[in-house]
Amino acid sequence: MANLSKRTSLNVAGKYYVDFTCICCGICTLIAPLNFFINLNEEYGYICKQPETKEEIKAIEEAIQNCPVEAIGSDGEEL
Ligand code: SF4
Repeated sequence: MANLSKRTSLNVAGKYYVDFTCICCGICTLIAPLNFFINLNEEYGYICKQPETKEEIKAIEEAIQNCPVEAIGSDGEEL
């Protein structure tokens, strides 16, 4: 389970985040490409855009279910 205290600084502010247990597998960027990004210079994927539509929320929730190391959290700050 993702841990808010392990949230990386790469994430944009908001409810969803990736923590530093991420292994950079890329699955989340395939499932929710509008909201996750992996910079090849970084060790972690991150939330590049918080969801603005129901479809984006659904895609992020699906990414949470499919992250192999449970590195995606949904208990970040509400904006
Ligand atoms: S699916 Fe999980 S481990 Fe893979 S890049 Fe995304 S956050 Fe990292």
